[in-house]
Amino acid sequence: MKQKAVIIGAGPAGLTAAYELSKTNTFTPLILERSKRVGGLSTTITYKGNKIDIGGHRFFTKSDTIMQWWLSFLPIEKGYGKSELTYHGRKQAVTSKHLFQKRNKNDVMMIRNRLSRIYYKGKFFEYPLELNLKTIQSIGVLDSFWFLFSYIQAIVRPIKPEITLEDFFINRFGKKLYETFFKTYTEKVWGKKCSEIPALWGKQRVKGLSMKKAVVNGVLKMIRPQHFSPNKKTETSLIEKFLYPKYGPGQLWNLVSKVAKKNGAELKFESEIESIHIQNSRVSSITYRDRNQKKYKTAASVVISSISIQELVPLITPPPPKKILQIAAGLEYRDFLVVGILLKKTTVKLHDNWLYIHDPIVKVGRIQIFNNWSPSMVKDKKTVWIGMEYFSNTDDDFWKQKDIEIITIAKKEIAALGLASEDMVIDATIYRAPKAYPAYTGSYSQFEALKRYLNRIENLFLIGRNGMHKYNNQDHSMLTAIEAVNIIVEKRRDKNSIWDINTEEEYHETK
Ligand SMILES: Cc1cc2nc3c(=O)[nH]c(=O)nc-3n(C[C@H](O)[C@H](O)[C@H](O)COP(=O)(O)OP(=O)(O)OC[C@H]3O[C@@H](n4cnc5c(N)ncnc54)[C@H](O)[C@@H]3O)c2cc1C
Repeated sequence: MKQKAVIIGAGPAGLTAAYELSKTNTFTPLILERSKRVGGLSTTITYKGNKIDIGGHRFFTKSDTIMQWWLSFLPIEKGYGKSELTYHGRKQAVTSKHLFQKRNKNDVMMIRNRLSRIYYKGKFFEYPLELNLKTIQSIGVLDSFWFLFSYIQAIVRPIKPEITLEDFFINRFGKKLYETFFKTYTEKVWGKKCSEIPALWGKQRVKGLSMKKAVVNGVLKMIRPQHFSPNKKTETSLIEKFLYPKYGPGQLWNLVSKVAKKNGAELKFESEIESIHIQNSRVSSITYRDRNQKKYKTAASVVISSISIQELVPLITPPPPKKILQIAAGLEYRDFLVVGILLKKTTVKLHDNWLYIHDPIVKVGRIQIFNNWSPSMVKDKKTVWIGMEYFSNTDDDFWKQKDIEIITIAKKEIAALGLASEDMVIDATIYRAPKAYPAYTGSYSQFEALKRYLNRIENLFLIGRNGMHKYNNQDHSMLTAIEAVNIIVEKRRDKNSIWDINTEEEYHETK
């Protein structure tokens, strides 16, 4: 008889684990998901035929395993058959082994151009920042001189020791550039002053950025423009382009859940876990309620959790030591909401996937232009479908406002930015995503003790983004799931290889 594997959460990590386990002859996965949909943060929301991707998910990875995995579900759309994919100059393996012989013709990955810019005081700047003639023109010659002067000051007299993120940025860019291009956006994202965030954060997240790089990138683009327009080549660099499912990331995760279910996995939506029972350092069973409040107690051979550690720890019965409960409770997150706005048109033509809004006059942090992710995200192609992203905390006054009040703010802000007047708005909606970013603040400095405690529960495996309280992208989240399944199937005891995934600093999106 097959053993039961309980998987908590049907996001990329949970579904990858379910799919991988469903292929074995040993385990039947039961996925318990709190919401009504699959995909977690990587879901696609449909509002009156228009689709929202929370965050805008570029599909890019260094891992051949993940690339093959994605393309086995959603092959690259026709027309790119002969194209070679590269990432940071390295050729990527593209599978021809697709899972389905008969496939819906819309189940494809598109290759999309990547364009994101900074929007500051009505002007556009390259993202990541490039110091080229255009940038100098936009900043103005006098201000550019001050930028240079403050950069030289930072080189001659760097802040030592580098304690805060503010120190980190000033040492690399100079005070003036930091104040213009880094301070406001970073503070919008994290809701904390850069002077309150440890410098370590910068080392982990923005290690690849420096003034030298900004200049080199700018100069390279001027002298070798063809390098940056790979359209005509048979080589497609996934730095300037990215893969994207025709109907957004949720399309992939819907398909994965369908196949896992076909292989025998069970998926229960609107399930609420009540307790995770531990006996002799192993999970023995899980109690949960279904959508009708019916209570179940199910025995589990293994439990794979992709839910936040903060929520997981209090579910453990008998309760963990007080110290462990305190560390879990003290973990911090940044919450996120997106206001979808349907516009007749914008004032300026926007080719971008997304814009970083550095202007301090508005609260919006980023604006997604969903038309440019995939035209199929928009019902009427003549309209412009945007997502205004707000970073907030669930206990902020901003978050606590009614949906309609936040939508009103968003409409006013798009007008204040000069991107579209309020009378261009046809319709709007809102989607809230709590715990979108696990933060390396709060009790995170004591995280090792928590990790050690949870690792000691032999058949409990933590995977994914909030599941490991780690800034994991989809590919990392999936790799942690695949590694957990490997450990389970091979009956290994050491779980450290799961924690080793995504420890390379240079890998992050911000680079
Ligand atoms: C703004 C933003 C932009 C991003 N951009 C990219 C990108 O460009 N490329 C990329 O690859 N990645 C990107 N990511 C990261 C990507 O979204 C995550 O890596 C991925 O979704 C994590 O998968 P997961 O399964 O670990 O967690 P999640 O996606 O968070 O899924 C967890 C699931 O668990 C469920 N759950 C939570 N609590 C419970 C509970 N108590 N009981 C039952 N179920 C529960 C949730 O409902 C959810 O379905 C981005 C993320 C954000 C926020």
